[in-house]
Amino acid sequence: MPKYTVVLIPGDGIGPEVTNAAKRVIEAAGATIEWVELPAGAVAIEQGHDNVLPLRTLAAIQAHKVALKGPVTTPVGKGFSSVNVQLRKKLNLYAAVRPVRSMPGVKTRYENVDLVILRENTEGLYSGIENEVVPGVVTSLKVASEAACTRIARFAFRFATRFHSKKITVFHKANIMKMTDGLFLACARRIYEEEYPNIEYEEMIVDAGCMKLVQDPTRFDVLLMENLYGDLISDLCAGLVGGLGVVGGSNLGDNIAVFEAVHGSAPDIAGKGVANPLAVILSATMMLNYLHEEAVAERIRKAYEAVLVEGKSLTRDLGGNAGTEQFADAIIAKLK
Ligand code: NAD
Repeated sequence: MPKYTVVLIPGDGIGPEVTNAAKRVIEAAGATIEWVELPAGAVAIEQGHDNVLPLRTLAAIQAHKVALKGPVTTPVGKGFSSVNVQLRKKLNLYAAVRPVRSMPGVKTRYENVDLVILRENTEGLYSGIENEVVPGVVTSLKVASEAACTRIARFAFRFATRFHSKKITVFHKANIMKMTDGLFLACARRIYEEEYPNIEYEEMIVDAGCMKLVQDPTRFDVLLMENLYGDLISDLCAGLVGGLGVVGGSNLGDNIAVFEAVHGSAPDIAGKGVANPLAVILSATMMLNYLHEEAVAERIRKAYEAVLVEGKSLTRDLGGNAGTEQFADAIIAKLK
């Protein structure tokens, strides 16, 4: 009998290809999961739902508490609001956790990168509050609340303690956004001073932080930041270790977790069977650890590392010519 029920959202573009590959790997590794597959994204509209995030999908995540999600397409400059923003706000998934690590066998400019991005997921400029003041003048509201800033700061220090991280670096722009980023910084500093003075703490203006990241990413450990910076820095950091195909992630609330890769629906390669499924597989191993299936997660880790080191079944983004399914098959073969 399956031990867990997980909501599987294939999503749009490459989503169905990479989530299906991840599902096959998880099952081959021996995890007994009952999948509840439900739509979200442009595909939900195509299937006749009136919202990109159908109520049934939302309710299933609320009921089962854990989801593995593929990327969804969001129209640029018009149309419906982002499924991701809706999900994170409606389910209160306030912390995005994105580990960025050098992968064995994946050659990049850097070695030994091992950092984690912790992104506040519910407010900042992603509150979606935009107005036309007069024709030709529009505004976008950046929101920071003491409650949300304190919550993510405390999450970061707890995370650092649990995973024995040495240092937390807060990226900010409080020199310009004195109130919003100023509050984010003040909350982080307060939690550090009052609750976790044992953990090394530093503050860095985000633009200088970008330069330092590309000069030497190994000097960083846990990076804590608000929503927009977290989005941008996630892709930047993915580029340091081999691209969007190799960075997984999770969106965590107090009792609900949605696991998903950092990458989007990659319309340029969708339907071609060439997308790298590893980012979703990495997100799935994070999910297995969350479900206390550490042994299964570890088996999957060993298998994909062996495939990466062998270098014969890599997808195009990693310099190979294997397809999504071949890459997944190679991982499954190493599990046996
Ligand atoms: P993207 O992440 O989809 O793609 C950026 C580049 O990386 C593309 O060249 C793509 O081919 C490549 N890439 C991404 N994932 C890959 C993989 N697994 N294997 C190989 N190559 C991969 O970003 P984009 O093109 O800016 O956005 C496309 C759509 O995705 C947009 O509608 C955007 O809103 C959406 N998006 C969704 C999520 C999400 O659902 N979590 C995240 C980011 C973007």
